[in-house]
Amino acid sequence: MTASSREASRDITIGNATVAPGQSQLVELPFGRLPTQTILNVPVIVINGRRDGPRLWLSAAIHGDELNGVEIIRRVAERVDAAKLRGAILATPIVNVLGFLQQDRYLPDRRDLNRSFPGSPRGALASQLADLFMREVVARCSYGIDLHTGSHHRTNLPQIRANLDDPETERCARAFGAPAIVHSATRDGSLREAATERGNTVLLYEAGEALRFNEESIRTGVVGVLRVLSALGMRRGRPGGKRAPAIVRRSQWVRARREGMLRLAVAPGDRVRKRANLGFVSNALGDTQPIKLTAPFDGVVLGAALNPLVHRGEAVVHLGAVEEELGD
Ligand SMILES: [Zn+2]
Repeated sequence: MTASSREASRDITIGNATVAPGQSQLVELPFGRLPTQTILNVPVIVINGRRDGPRLWLSAAIHGDELNGVEIIRRVAERVDAAKLRGAILATPIVNVLGFLQQDRYLPDRRDLNRSFPGSPRGALASQLADLFMREVVARCSYGIDLHTGSHHRTNLPQIRANLDDPETERCARAFGAPAIVHSATRDGSLREAATERGNTVLLYEAGEALRFNEESIRTGVVGVLRVLSALGMRRGRPGGKRAPAIVRRSQWVRARREGMLRLAVAPGDRVRKRANLGFVSNALGDTQPIKLTAPFDGVVLGAALNPLVHRGEAVVHLGAVEEELGD
């Protein structure tokens, strides 16, 4: 296709479908079969704006048990009108379809999809799924937002994780307006890393816990995605909001120094001073002196354990050092 014919036709052809400008369509990307021969598809909501503009992907349930993002995408898709949109949104509410069906973080072969990018068509199942997402979705876009929740019986304060050393990523991260922005270098094999290497500007949103809907996390996510669309000129609306996010460049997990039952004194979002009490770990029968958990520095609680049963050395409170406080 020449540059001029690409200008002329802004149809999006994906899977077996072609979505014209001004149209929204649910497209099924074929992804093999279950052992029962049931056909397996990865659904993508394509919202092709009437007018030209940036293309952005949204992904959720890369970890199959992380459901807040599925609901965030449903609500965003409901609120974005293709007739008024500039550019396009390719939203994949359930990337890890197999993990989602099993209510499990991983694929059936126990592989972590978010360590399998960019993937390969001849690799393990996770690698094939990563490859499909990269080819069909990421390759068509220049921006992306990957939606996650806490894992392993932990919950997260709604937060953006992004590489703040890149100015455009930082601009989008601030526009999202979550209560905290955590600077993080990408990890090997993650979607964020693979898409960034392809030239995409990528945000990762972490909020709430697995296998639950957390209304505050969902609302913050919906508003955040819409604000990023405004910041990119894809929809009307004022980018940025009244929220004053804390910028965190250094964080640490506080660990239980003994095994037993955890009673936390803090919750995600709480601000604590150095040496403040974060909670206690005692033996299940209460016949020993409880051990106190203390804050190693002034900070904001980014995440916390939900399961009171802890082993020695288990990470129970994620504390971020606040580097910068943004005013309204
Ligand atoms: Zn995740």
